[in-house]
Amino acid sequence: MIGKVAGRFSDGLRATSVEVDVALDGRGILIELPGTPEPLVWPYGALAVASPLGRSSTEALVTYAHMPGATLFVESAPFAQGLASAAPALTARAGRWRAARPWIWTAAAVAAIGFGVWAAGLSPARVVAGMLPDGARQKLGAQVIASMTANRRTCAAPAGVAALDALVERLTEAGGGKNRFKVTIVDWRLLNAFAAPGEQIVLTREIIEKARSPEEVAGVLAHEMGHGIERHPETGIVRAIGLTAAIELVTGGASGGLVNIGLVLTQLSYTRAAEREADTQGLRLLKGAGISPSGIVDFFKRVQGVERKGSAGGGLDILRTHPQSEERARLAASQAPYPTTPALDPAAWAALQRICG
Ligand SMILES: [Zn+2]
Repeated sequence: MIGKVAGRFSDGLRATSVEVDVALDGRGILIELPGTPEPLVWPYGALAVASPLGRSSTEALVTYAHMPGATLFVESAPFAQGLASAAPALTARAGRWRAARPWIWTAAAVAAIGFGVWAAGLSPARVVAGMLPDGARQKLGAQVIASMTANRRTCAAPAGVAALDALVERLTEAGGGKNRFKVTIVDWRLLNAFAAPGEQIVLTREIIEKARSPEEVAGVLAHEMGHGIERHPETGIVRAIGLTAAIELVTGGASGGLVNIGLVLTQLSYTRAAEREADTQGLRLLKGAGISPSGIVDFFKRVQGVERKGSAGGGLDILRTHPQSEERARLAASQAPYPTTPALDPAAWAALQRICG
């Protein structure tokens, strides 16, 4: 019926699409995936399209009821029009259009992946993460925090919480008040800090207690806020769990695969470019708050020194997840000096260090 044309196919499990040959025959759409002997057949009766097909269609974004999350994008007028005549239901405005709605977001994302995203030098996962609505990001963040704190105590001594809140507020105001972060201190004997989706940050007890000044805590906090502002946690999760799970979050579908989402997040390590972005944002926040950038440099340098001497036992996760101390120091040093005040007064700093009791 319609001979081979090129299309882009995404299985919905990975945030990337692959080039495929597609054709139409009496059964349905035939999709030739690289490395598989038999073409995949998508019967006409179980298809949905992102927008109704007609005589003037030049492209088709197709989903298939029995492969949730999978999408096929074909930019070919003969294919789109051939599909319209083989599957008249796809030309109707009602019915299937509505049935396809949850997947339109996928289709849009796949289309974005197929066109221009690579050329623009952006990772598809980042583009997809950028499309997650706030509600979905917060839901994802809440799941991360819940899984992190399921078997661990969170530290919440009132005076310590007040000190932490004051510091977070100061950095938030410095960022224009747009991104309001919630910071949780977890009673965990591991030197780690990470940003979760939806403006959430987790610092371990070890970070608070190993820090030698409030400027060091402020620096780590500002760096993590930088990751959050840049949507790195969302991007990392989309990359790790795939497009399908991310879409399930958006559409409120089943999300059984997300049980270990906290673990996923602690295992993420960011690219050098992402670390640089977090540092740039973090230094901007510190400057806006009038807090010395020396803390962030000192802290990372010191923990790296400990790691190099091999005396840390078990390794320091923060170094795997946040590398490149020298580059950070250079970046901080390249800034023009600015007036600073202590990140916290001595009483508040003492209270913060006792937040876990
Ligand atoms: Zn980092």
